[in-house]
Amino acid sequence: MVKIQSVTPGSPADKAGIKAGDVLLSVGGEKVCDVLDYRFYGTDANAEVTLSRDGEEMTFKLRNREYADLGMEFSTYLMDEKKRCTNNCIFCFIDQNPKGMRETVYFKDDDERLSFLQGNYVTLTNMRESDVERIIRMHISPINVSVHTMNPDLRVKMMGNRFAGEKLRFLKMLDEGGIRINAQLVLCRDINDGEELTYSLGELCKLENLESLAVVPCGMTAHREGLPEILPYHKESAADVICRIEKKAAECLEAFDCRKVFASDEFYLTAERELPPDEAYEGYPQLENGVGMLRLHTVEFEDALTDCETVDVSRHLSIATGMLAKSHMEHLASLAMARFPSLRVDVHAIVNHFFGETITVSGLVTGGDLIAQLKGKELGDTLLIPENMLRHEGDLFLDNVSVADVENALHVTVGVTSRDGEDLLHHFLDN
Ligand code: SF4
Repeated sequence: MVKIQSVTPGSPADKAGIKAGDVLLSVGGEKVCDVLDYRFYGTDANAEVTLSRDGEEMTFKLRNREYADLGMEFSTYLMDEKKRCTNNCIFCFIDQNPKGMRETVYFKDDDERLSFLQGNYVTLTNMRESDVERIIRMHISPINVSVHTMNPDLRVKMMGNRFAGEKLRFLKMLDEGGIRINAQLVLCRDINDGEELTYSLGELCKLENLESLAVVPCGMTAHREGLPEILPYHKESAADVICRIEKKAAECLEAFDCRKVFASDEFYLTAERELPPDEAYEGYPQLENGVGMLRLHTVEFEDALTDCETVDVSRHLSIATGMLAKSHMEHLASLAMARFPSLRVDVHAIVNHFFGETITVSGLVTGGDLIAQLKGKELGDTLLIPENMLRHEGDLFLDNVSVADVENALHVTVGVTSRDGEDLLHHFLDN
């Protein structure tokens, strides 16, 4: 029983006479418990919807294009409580957040429905067999799974959950049920890398429906009080990880005609190894995990520069980024400046004092660090920042400093670039 909050004008629900305030009981004769039920049972061209209005049960027939939305909106996106994570991972980033941030930053969700709807990664540890059976019955795919290791005992230890090992059997069930799987392994140095990594890669690649596997290093902030010690990756340990992944990728290429397994950009940068070429990323299935992001950005930027008809541009601007992407941004800036001699682009890599200097990605740079480190610098007419420095609404950094605060403090206009390399070039050229 879920209350309908609003009905999209002109939608099948609106045309049939369904109203805000009605209580949805079933779709296609099936009880609706959450958004997956609603979407799955509502895909018929003629969906029968039963609801309660002022205590009276009513049934409507909705004509719909197959697989289109029926047009009902509910008070919560999932039409149900978000499932909480029941793990206690030794590498959990949320446990390493400084105190005093927005409350939402500390919420740990682990909800398979968000995997299908928003691409979130789930651990399978809080799922029941009936949840897995429902996914297979509905055939909703792909599911994104945080595996971390295929060694059950090690998974229990790493995830602080006594069910974490045994729940690996759900992966097999999903695979046999024909559900496509994207997986990730978060690596902790000397814990689940080395031979453990080789074993996990081997076991995961046996899954027929494994689409892609991203291997990423765990992020460690300066706020790990009371948490187990984990060593950061260095050049040699990162190179060892890459070597094992590339070996498995080559075997997969031979066997399946695609690599399936990928190391994140961070491993290549830490190992001081060149990023793989564009084609090695096979359509970039693991971009959200930072796999191939820098290669794709470079390709887009270079293509846009080749196609660019602008004769010259005269301006000075700056870009702020994290320490990790410093050389990448400097490379793109130098390409643009070589092509446009009157253009000056300064790259400022920001040291992360908020989370700790071990955090080098641009997405975790805060407004406070930007202001402190760029104050008094000649920034030109614009300071460009990547959109991932801001929350979804695009107005606040992680420390609640606003874009306007940064503009006022640094006396510069802030421009926000998308993650598309072509967009970055346009920001260089359009004043
Ligand atoms: S699954 Fe682990 S890493 Fe993810 S939120 Fe839960 S405790 Fe943190």
